[in-house]
Amino acid sequence: MRLAQRLILGAFAVVTALVLFIVVIAHNRLEERLLRDTTAQLVRKARLVGLGWTTFDRADSVADAAGVALRYRVTLIDSTGRVVGDSDFDGAALERLDNHLTRPEIEAARAAGFGSAQRVSASLGSQEIYAAVQDPKGFVRVAMHARDLEEITDHMRQDVLAAGLIATVLAMLLAWLFARSVARPISELSAVAGALAGGDLTRRPALAAPGEVGVLATALYQMADQLSGRLRALQTEETLMGAVIESLHEGILAVDAKRRVVRINESGRRLLGVRQNTPFPVDHLPRDRRLREALDEALAGFPSGPEDLRIDTRVLALSARPLLSGGAVLAVFDLTQQRRLETVRRDFVANVSHELKTPLTVIRGFADTLAEEEELPAETRRQFAETVRANAQRMHRIVDDLLDLSRIESGGWVPNPVLLDVGSAATDATIAIRDVAREKGVSISVAPDESARVVFADSTAFRQILANLVENAVRYTPPGGSVVVSSRGDPGGVTIEVRDTGIGIAAEHLPRIFERFYRVDPGRARGAGGTGLGLAIVRHLTEAHGGRVKGESTPGRGTKISIFLPFPAGAATASGVTPS
Ligand code: ADP
Repeated sequence: MRLAQRLILGAFAVVTALVLFIVVIAHNRLEERLLRDTTAQLVRKARLVGLGWTTFDRADSVADAAGVALRYRVTLIDSTGRVVGDSDFDGAALERLDNHLTRPEIEAARAAGFGSAQRVSASLGSQEIYAAVQDPKGFVRVAMHARDLEEITDHMRQDVLAAGLIATVLAMLLAWLFARSVARPISELSAVAGALAGGDLTRRPALAAPGEVGVLATALYQMADQLSGRLRALQTEETLMGAVIESLHEGILAVDAKRRVVRINESGRRLLGVRQNTPFPVDHLPRDRRLREALDEALAGFPSGPEDLRIDTRVLALSARPLLSGGAVLAVFDLTQQRRLETVRRDFVANVSHELKTPLTVIRGFADTLAEEEELPAETRRQFAETVRANAQRMHRIVDDLLDLSRIESGGWVPNPVLLDVGSAATDATIAIRDVAREKGVSISVAPDESARVVFADSTAFRQILANLVENAVRYTPPGGSVVVSSRGDPGGVTIEVRDTGIGIAAEHLPRIFERFYRVDPGRARGAGGTGLGLAIVRHLTEAHGGRVKGESTPGRGTKISIFLPFPAGAATASGVTPS
């Protein structure tokens, strides 16, 4: 039931109870007082009648005259109780009336001079009100019908009831107005509170209500203000946190006490290969024993990690921390690259040591012999010294290549690209190897395409790239073979190709030939004077120009190494530029 209705109903109950109470009390009190006044009046009238009762002979006619004048029953009784006059009885009937000495009003008059009583009349049979006074000749009694009095009180009761009804209607009208004025601001407040609780924090109550309701409205207003302020602050913080978490390279997962992943950032999804929308059960995480154990420990309140995990091809560092509120946070960091670099570095150190150790051992052996054997013939000594020099040169080449590589890799070297004529650069670069090729019976030709005569590259680096590629081609091509350097215009740049008719490279080795110290046939390559670093240098130099390398080969038929060198932005085609 609504507040206004309750107020009106309450007011109705109170007013009705009050009116009923007033009606009952007023009625009883009025009846009492009326009876008392009427009795007193009857006593006075009895005294008045007594004044006119002078002789016994005319007692009945005095009573009749008084009865007519007063419109009451008048009875005159002598001192023995015999009725000597009565306005309602005459003659024989009068004679037959009882002795009245024992009537209560007469007994009271005898005792106190006057008396009254209300009772059923023995003579008339109706309810009467009597008043009697003592007189020198006996007693004078005046009686009236109680019904007359009842009629008066009945009218009075009706009047009081009518007044009560009018008062109730008026009171209800006032109660309705009052209830409306009290209930309206309260219903408004409750509507606003409901809207706030439902999440609409823009609603505010009117502050005009008086008294406690006004105080309540102000409090609600301030509460709504504070609530929306705090919500805004929370949302800002949440956005900030979300942005920070999403920007992390580290994968972050929050798991609640019910073992559901409630938050996971993009790095976490990528590293753990998760696609489900949050929240989702932890069963959707990769099935790794250590991951599960770390999660269980953290959910039990024990931190763990960081420790390495292997998920698919990745190596991840995993840390798990319990949350105070129950649940846990897992952090995964991708160590794949780092671990691979460590392996590469380890392999590299081992490779370098191995590469340098072979010539060093040879040098040391021959140097020892030269130092200790004084009797050596001059020719042998010369051959030994020559071997020492050749191995020293080999070491020198290895160290030079390593220095070149490390300079390029460390970023200490930056290409200074200019427009170069492919033909003349290739001819320059191959001068040194031409003698070796001629001796071996391998032909070298340079045949740039007319549409791709120019490259945009660092002059020294481009020559070094070509020298390495042609040197390799000659090295791995048997006598009678040929090496061709050509060019081709491609979208955005030029592709240089060094093709030979040599031994070729098996498909399983092809993807790795650009790695440092990778050799298809280590013994043969070393014997042919290779350092194992030539193609690694070619790749690094090309990539430093923003280009790319590619190897294609058919074992026994020949090899083609291609390098693509881009043009600077704006110069779209090879024919669009000319060499400086
Ligand atoms: P190397 O100095 O040993 O030649 P590279 O890095 O230049 O080292 O080459 C790596 C390996 O690739 C060589 O050891 C060789 O096995 C193979 N290779 C490179 N170029 C050719 C080619 N033109 N024909 C056949 N094999 C080649």
